[in-house]
Amino acid sequence: MKTILFPLLAIIAAAWGLDLAATTFPPNSHILWIVRQEGMYLTGLLSIALMSLSMLLATRPAWLEKPLGGLDRIYRLHKWSGILAISFGASHWLLQLSSDILKPLIGVEGRLPKIKYDGLLEVLRELGDDMGEPALYATLAMLAVTLWRRFPYHLWRHLHRVMPVLYLMLALHAALLAPLTYWTQPVGVLMAVCLAVGVVSSFMSLAGMIGRRRQVNGSVITVNREADVTELTCRLDEQWQAHRPGQFAFITFDWIEGAHPFTIASADRGDRTITFFIKGLGDFTKNLAQHIQSGQTVKIEGPYGRFQLARNQSDSRQIWVAGGIGVTPFLAWLESLQSPTEETQEADLHYCTRNHEIDPFVGRLQTLCAALPGIRLYIHSAKHGEVLTAGSLKLSDSKKNKADVWFCGPSGLADALKKGLKDEWNGRLRFHQEAFEMR
Ligand SMILES: Cc1cc2nc3c(=O)[nH]c(=O)nc-3n(C[C@H](O)[C@H](O)[C@H](O)COP(=O)(O)OP(=O)(O)OC[C@H]3O[C@@H](n4cnc5c(N)ncnc54)[C@H](O)[C@@H]3O)c2cc1C
Repeated sequence: MKTILFPLLAIIAAAWGLDLAATTFPPNSHILWIVRQEGMYLTGLLSIALMSLSMLLATRPAWLEKPLGGLDRIYRLHKWSGILAISFGASHWLLQLSSDILKPLIGVEGRLPKIKYDGLLEVLRELGDDMGEPALYATLAMLAVTLWRRFPYHLWRHLHRVMPVLYLMLALHAALLAPLTYWTQPVGVLMAVCLAVGVVSSFMSLAGMIGRRRQVNGSVITVNREADVTELTCRLDEQWQAHRPGQFAFITFDWIEGAHPFTIASADRGDRTITFFIKGLGDFTKNLAQHIQSGQTVKIEGPYGRFQLARNQSDSRQIWVAGGIGVTPFLAWLESLQSPTEETQEADLHYCTRNHEIDPFVGRLQTLCAALPGIRLYIHSAKHGEVLTAGSLKLSDSKKNKADVWFCGPSGLADALKKGLKDEWNGRLRFHQEAFEMR
């Protein structure tokens, strides 16, 4: 994430710096008035560039999955670029308000002269000016509900749909209030590119075009419930782009509820059927089995994600760690390895559960692993005191010099494992993690 955001900020700041170096201010200008004005330009530029990036990422760009490491990471980058954009927007607004402090402090004599525009340009600039403030207040409110984790997700999702409109208002503000001299300089070219990307992405979102090319209709064939997990198998009406084991899809059961992401827990069977295991984690998923019946139509969008089966690597030990419902991508991996054409895969699979006696996945994992001699299955049942720690991964026993840990489960467990492995394995460990959270 930092490798994208920091260079973007640096490029924008450098372009702004080039313009600043070429600007001559009137001789009586006070340094604080100059700092205020240039600060407003810089924060405005950074804010709109980051917001444009955030809008692009919201379109679920499959072509960015490879360079950015999957859609879950794209969404994380979308979230952080949005948060940073709004923070720069707030700084821009505070700098604007700072004139009320500067006036009594240093007077208005050293203030930079306002550039006069005539006719339509002046009307448009006033319009752009009027757009900025309400749009900024609305984005600040959106940021507050996004960070307030208790705000219900389904309501947040509907509210979040207003973002393209707010972006368009802010884009208009930025385009109309940027100094005219910008448009003949690198900073203007960069801003034009950012605005073009953001505006196209916003219209795609408003027109409902996001993910449309990856959507297929299908129907539910079977629904089974065991403990708090619902197993759902669907048949797609038409052939879709075959998924790779470990990928996920968005399922829409009804348009009011909208699309939810779930890992495809089955391998590509070639018969257009796919299976999901859905844990009751919230309002919708808790009552899923009661609402869904076989024969019901669904819309499925995907496949997405890069948490894909890791093949044998001669110098690296493969460790797979699943926590609770995080087992779903590994079920797909194990199912795909059952194919007689697959070479023997070597890996340690650690499955962490609260209580192995009532867990719906333990038996399934044992059956799948029984046919795969290279996969060593370890069950860690918390109720029986078997808690997974970095030490129990037994990495040091390995003859291999490096390790790849593939992790899907609670982020607290991932952090504890990373911390525990960091010192001994620093530089020799690759930790791959699938995030089940997008907000
Ligand atoms: C890549 C990925 C793969 C996943 N795979 C599985 C899986 O195989 N099995 C499984 O049980 N769960 C999986 N999840 C989690 C699953 O999407 C959520 O548990 C589910 O959407 C919760 O919906 P809810 O309305 O019941 O819960 P709520 O109480 O409304 O939400 C609980 C949390 O779930 C997430 N969430 C809710 N709705 C959405 C949505 N429409 N889009 C994105 N996130 C949402 C949010 O983080 C929210 O805070 C996966 C999530 C991701 C991102």
